[in-house]
Amino acid sequence: MAKEEMTGAPPAHILIFPVPLQGHVNSMLNLAEVLCQSSLHVTILLSDYTHNRLLRHASLHSRFSRYAGFRVATISDGLPDDHPRSGQRILDIVLSLKKVGGPQFRHLMESTEALSYGGAWRRVSCLIMDGVLSFAIPVVEEMGIPFIYFRTVSACSFWAYFCVQEMIDAGEIPLKGKDEDKLEYWKKEEMDLMVTSVPGMENILRRRDIPSFCRVEDINDPGLQSIKTETRRSTNATALILNTFEDLEGPALDQIRKHIPNLYSIGPLHSHLKALLESKGVESSHYSSSFWKEDDSCIAWLDSQPANSVVYVSFGSVTMLTRDELLEFWYGLVNSGKSFLWVVRPDSITGNDDGNGNEIPVELEEGTKSRGLMVEWVPQQVVLGHPSVGAFFTHSGWNSTLECIVIGLPMLCWPYFADQTTNSRFVSEVWKIGLDMKDTCDRILIEKMVRDVMEVRRDEFLVRARSLATSAKESISEGGSSHFNLNRLIKFLKSTV
Ligand code: UDP
Ligand code: UDP
Repeated sequence: MAKEEMTGAPPAHILIFPVPLQGHVNSMLNLAEVLCQSSLHVTILLSDYTHNRLLRHASLHSRFSRYAGFRVATISDGLPDDHPRSGQRILDIVLSLKKVGGPQFRHLMESTEALSYGGAWRRVSCLIMDGVLSFAIPVVEEMGIPFIYFRTVSACSFWAYFCVQEMIDAGEIPLKGKDEDKLEYWKKEEMDLMVTSVPGMENILRRRDIPSFCRVEDINDPGLQSIKTETRRSTNATALILNTFEDLEGPALDQIRKHIPNLYSIGPLHSHLKALLESKGVESSHYSSSFWKEDDSCIAWLDSQPANSVVYVSFGSVTMLTRDELLEFWYGLVNSGKSFLWVVRPDSITGNDDGNGNEIPVELEEGTKSRGLMVEWVPQQVVLGHPSVGAFFTHSGWNSTLECIVIGLPMLCWPYFADQTTNSRFVSEVWKIGLDMKDTCDRILIEKMVRDVMEVRRDEFLVRARSLATSAKESISEGGSSHFNLNRLIKFLKSTV
């Protein structure tokens, strides 16, 4: 029995602070729930906006009401309510938080009542924070509270972020110019050059595969500079948490450990949580807290489809599609002859300059009826685990990638930005469990690649995907690396009282 349980003293109190975006919040809430299961006290710090989104669908409440040791605190992200908070404009969230977050965070931490809930809880004993919210650091440092970084991205992309200075020194960043004919893309010859300055990835990454924030012409680009300094700051933290596992990303983790020895690789966190809840007989159909209402009707539709026949298509919570891209995807999918279940968020289509064209064309919705289903948001983990789903057409967000790896399905990757450009390269060239179609959006290629992952090259991808799924399960089981690391982390957190 733990010391505090014997004495009746309250346990350590962990404050968890994610970037207020769906993917980041999902990972951090999974960690929060694991810690609640370990009898720690947990406060999650959300933006008001995010909190309201979660309350709207009751997903936070229904999931966490069973934990007396769970609380939510909120701060403002400083943006107006009608800001889209998606696409490239999510950068505004971080920039705005950097401006308005510091004083609010200080106020919250310094008001003795705010986070001790009338004296019933200890003051915060450890902060677990996303990597880009460094305005919180001076406050906790002054108060003598340890802080741990939890970067919710892959180890391979974290390591690429960590090596931005090396890429600059080698002349690999900034990139040398855009294609004059196609302004939105960089020159192909430039993008296909191998990157040689990220240790351990010399034969893997081309310039087009490094995280998209590095695709800049100007070395002083604020995004590039920010990602560089924020990532290097990880070395000042007490520890770094990554949602990955040794058998998947051992080489990148080894590189990171040379700089940050206290590294906890504890993933896949969502399956860790699932196993933990199942072992305790806790009812839970799946383990996410969605910003959008989940449309469960797709499950009945999937039930009516043959095994392995459906392509599940989702580009996550942030990706925006132009009307042209939407149509290329649609024709590619339809021409492949495969059925599809496609998540198209209501806010995810970029309209024309005149403000029109940001809805799904009616003819497209009509044309889909015989071939598939378009929905606004689904319970993704349930969908991926459904026997009718044969492959995942994904934007390569890290949560989605891990969720698919656990199930053991092939992936077709269309990365939108950020770490996704690196993740998709690892899916296709390192783990060899799918195909990467980054920087293209063409119906003929989509049709071909959908057939490849569903049929032509399916067996080849499936063998490796299933083997990785087995490794993922082993890593979170007794004796596995993530199981060991998570216990080590919990032990440390308990000792912070
Ligand atoms: N970001 C930023 N400055 C940084 C790093 C990231 O503004 O130094 C933004 C980035 O645009 C993203 C968010 O912070 O919206 C989270 O970045 P991270 O790399 O942690 O996750 P990702 O978006 O790659 O999943
Ligand atoms: N997700 C979901 N329903 C959907 C689409 C996505 O629950 O219809 C979840 C998905 O399971 C994942 C998260 O949203 O946990 C997306 O996170 P990811 O890191 O993959 O991408 P991001 O949205 O941050 O770009």
